[in-house]
Amino acid sequence: MGSDTANVPVLVAGAGPVGMTTALALHARGIETTILEAEPEDRDRSGSRAIYVHGTTLRTLERIHPGLGTDLVDEGLVWPTRRTLYKGTEVFNRTYDSPGGSGDIPHFTSVPQVTTEQYMLDALADVGIDIHWESEVVTVDSSSNGVRVETADGQEWETEYVVGADGGGSTVRKEIGANFEGDQSENAFLIADVVDEAIDDDHPDLERVFHYDAPEADGRNVLLVPFTGGWRLDIQCLEDDDPEELSSDERMREFVCDIMGEEYEDQLQWVSSYYFLQVMADSFIDDHRRVLLAGEAAHLLAPFGARGMNSGVADADEAASAISVALDARRDAVARDEIELYAARRETAAEYNLDAAGQALEYLQGEDPVTVLRKEVAASLADQFETAGEWLDDAPYGPHGSPPIVSTGNY
Ligand SMILES: Cc1cc2nc3c(=O)[nH]c(=O)nc-3n(C[C@H](O)[C@H](O)[C@H](O)COP(=O)(O)OP(=O)(O)OC[C@H]3O[C@@H](n4cnc5c(N)ncnc54)[C@H](O)[C@@H]3O)c2cc1C
Repeated sequence: MGSDTANVPVLVAGAGPVGMTTALALHARGIETTILEAEPEDRDRSGSRAIYVHGTTLRTLERIHPGLGTDLVDEGLVWPTRRTLYKGTEVFNRTYDSPGGSGDIPHFTSVPQVTTEQYMLDALADVGIDIHWESEVVTVDSSSNGVRVETADGQEWETEYVVGADGGGSTVRKEIGANFEGDQSENAFLIADVVDEAIDDDHPDLERVFHYDAPEADGRNVLLVPFTGGWRLDIQCLEDDDPEELSSDERMREFVCDIMGEEYEDQLQWVSSYYFLQVMADSFIDDHRRVLLAGEAAHLLAPFGARGMNSGVADADEAASAISVALDARRDAVARDEIELYAARRETAAEYNLDAAGQALEYLQGEDPVTVLRKEVAASLADQFETAGEWLDDAPYGPHGSPPIVSTGNY
């Protein structure tokens, strides 16, 4: 080993929510770790991205860093009302007395990803985990004895295990020779955050609204979800739309004004357009069972069902658990086996999540006559049969079946 080579038991590439969770989960198991992050400390993580944080995720965060889950619960909100409209007519409206359930951790909370990440950064500082900013991982060489990592500034690292949590464009994934397989949504989606300081847990009208073929969006599907301090506005482009043009400031202000009301016209905080990729790596681990992929480095999902960050947190916790057992193993074969089990579990979970998000996408974009007819019929029956409206309300989100790995509840 060269004199300037740094040595640490486990390296995490990427300080997104998944990398930070991995580091906290390793620390909780008594394992020393360091995060290498490509961007500078004062980076701008604009755009809230994940807002829907599942109860399972909150419980995991609370377990690995007591107070982290409950802090997010305090920061976030639980909307009690689900409402759906179809071409301007309400077809479903239900308010729950106790939408979060009982206990400290609700079924979900709605909190912007930037806030979640800030709490994670604070938790890392709390337990003294280093983030090496401006340390872009450029090479990853694994062998049966460990991994050698080099960052763009020329620093070399030697470590037992690497967790690649370096996002969709993952260098770690490419370095281990894994490839993304899958496809992309046909339609683009416009996603915006609209500021509304009045939105918090005590607000009287917290509702998630889905509007099929909304007249005020010229027949596009519209989703509105509240989070602390604002609203997530999601507009599904039509097939012939030019997403660049529609996401211009001027056009988005018009959308906001027409959909939400004039008082919101100047409250647009952030907007972006996406074609959602539906892909997963063909292997979540390297040949030597020393490098594990987690989060978006391993899989990219359309956000219907909110499985992206949530499943990334499950990856992170299970990666830490597998590494913890592997580090203590007296036999190499046992260590290898544990890492392989990680891959088997998380690849199964990713397939399940991709399938669920894919079904939701197909349903939303589906122009096939059966899907169109089912929606029309359900909307026409919603007045007499609540289940018809409930089906319309529920269908855009997944997953609808039970999770594939029942023992852990993680998926
Ligand atoms: C519009 C939208 C809405 C969403 N809504 C939800 C939701 O409601 N719920 C949900 O669960 N998910 C949601 N998601 C998905 C969620 O945002 C992502 O799954 C999540 O950010 C992935 O986290 P990550 O840590 O894997 O990757 P990232 O957040 O991309 O973090 C990767 C990190 O690695 C760093 N990096 C990259 N390359 C290198 C390198 N070579 N070396 C070192 N560091 C590197 C990057 O700078 C970054 O900090 C949504 C996504 C979008 C786009």
